[in-house]
Amino acid sequence: MFVCALVLAVGLAAVMGILYSNFDGQMRKELSKEAAYLAYGVEQQGLNYLKNIKDKSARITYIDQDGTVLFDNEADVSEMKNHSDRTEFQKAEKYGAGESSRYSDTLSEKTIYYALRLKDGTVLRVSGTQDSVLALVENLIFPLCGLLCLMLILSGIMASAISKRIVKPINELDLESPEENRIYEELSPLLSKIHRQNREIQNQLELAKQQQEEFALITENMQEGLIVIDKYTMILSANSSAWNLFHMDRVCQGESVYCLDREEEFRHAIEQVLSGEHTELVLKLNGSDIQLIANPVIRDKKTEGAVVLLVNVTEKLERESLRREFSANVSHELKTPLTSISGFAEIMQGGLVKCEDIPQFAGRIYKESQRLLQLVEDVIQISQLDEEKTSYTWEPVDVYQVCKNAFESLKEKAKRLNVHLYICGEYMKMEAVRTLLEEAVYNICDNAIKYNRNDGSVSVFLTQTAQEIQIVVKDTGVGIPKEDQDRVFERFYRVDKSHSKEIWGTGLGLSIVKHAVGALKGSVILRSEEGNGTEICMKFPKVHKE
Ligand code: ADP
Repeated sequence: MFVCALVLAVGLAAVMGILYSNFDGQMRKELSKEAAYLAYGVEQQGLNYLKNIKDKSARITYIDQDGTVLFDNEADVSEMKNHSDRTEFQKAEKYGAGESSRYSDTLSEKTIYYALRLKDGTVLRVSGTQDSVLALVENLIFPLCGLLCLMLILSGIMASAISKRIVKPINELDLESPEENRIYEELSPLLSKIHRQNREIQNQLELAKQQQEEFALITENMQEGLIVIDKYTMILSANSSAWNLFHMDRVCQGESVYCLDREEEFRHAIEQVLSGEHTELVLKLNGSDIQLIANPVIRDKKTEGAVVLLVNVTEKLERESLRREFSANVSHELKTPLTSISGFAEIMQGGLVKCEDIPQFAGRIYKESQRLLQLVEDVIQISQLDEEKTSYTWEPVDVYQVCKNAFESLKEKAKRLNVHLYICGEYMKMEAVRTLLEEAVYNICDNAIKYNRNDGSVSVFLTQTAQEIQIVVKDTGVGIPKEDQDRVFERFYRVDKSHSKEIWGTGLGLSIVKHAVGALKGSVILRSEEGNGTEICMKFPKVHKE
């Protein structure tokens, strides 16, 4: 539209300029011709010739040699000034002919004068008036405005139609496969560029996706929780173990890490790591001990975020405390028989024991050392079970024979305590680690005899199904109080310490049973009623699966 307006203005100015100069030339020519005809007439007929001319289309002035106006067909001669100062008059006097032009006061008209010197020295002047450029512009202003408006509207409509025609195929471009678009040639370089960029973006996307998948694969298979946060504490990525540790089933990606735990120490740890310091602490989360290890992510000496690793250390800490407790218990249990032994030996060394009492003292020393031996054996046994590294030999074992062997070993003890032993069942085989099964059965039967009453009994019932073998050891003994039933499998736990003093034990028997049954992939259930005997039921799979 602007170009149109400019072209119109320049074109119009040029046309008007040319036409104006043409008209000007034309007029001058006509004035000179007219002046020549009139000069001829005046020379032939004198002043009367001029007076007889009726046509007043051009102004005719006849001037004497001294500039006095002799005749004018439009004005009163007597009122006219001397014309000797007029340019055209001076030129005519000098060269024979002369012309000049002058604008009106309003500049809207221009008068061209043509003066011709006659033979007698007088000057005949003819003048014509034409509109000035300004007047022409004034006259043309309205039609020009109309034309301009028309042009603007037309150019507006055309510009809109053309731009729509250009833009439409661009809008309909299939940017996924730009090279397949059939569109004007000028867009081909752009489409090729888009195609190249598309390929590049695709490659980068695939690479990023692959890396993300690898990252997800690694982190999702981690047992440890892994959280990546930015410097504003927003979670950028977290694996499912992390959500599980915080007991969250909702993924809070994009939320602040504080939504996981609002405890002061957690907040403090996050603040510390985001200040650029490596942080480690153990959090208490829903009864579990979670070790938090956080490292800052530093780029250009600025902390951009942090990587937080969460490890469930509940079991580790429990084991550590158990180990500490175990060592303390073992030392204490070892001390008691050793103190007795050393005491008896000291007395005997000092010669304070009569000869006839020596066997009795030696017997006590022997008994205590037997206890010591038993304790050491149990400790070794439980330590081996704890190690879990012992490679077991799995073999078909006759369960009936195992129970029979246990009774055989305990026969003397049972007889001494007046406890009757019974086995009820048939020969049956299962895949097991012989020593572990023997140990479990022996310990349970030993307890059943130890904690029995006079003239009581211990019965072993063996039953089997297609997959399982069940060993139930039932006694008629003192039973275990309800409140202790859950704890008897703990290490060194003994019911009713005063009563236990009479019946000696290490407090390790049932925990060995629990471990052994666990290693054999079986289960153990205890049913007991105080004063009414105890029943311990063990179940094992017949076939061992790795
Ligand atoms: P201990 O060496 O003292 O026998 P155990 O671990 O074998 O250690 O047993 C733990 C405790 O459980 C025993 O001190 C005893 O009080 C109780 N207990 C185990 N078996 C029986 C049972 N058959 N009848 C009654 N009490 C039992």
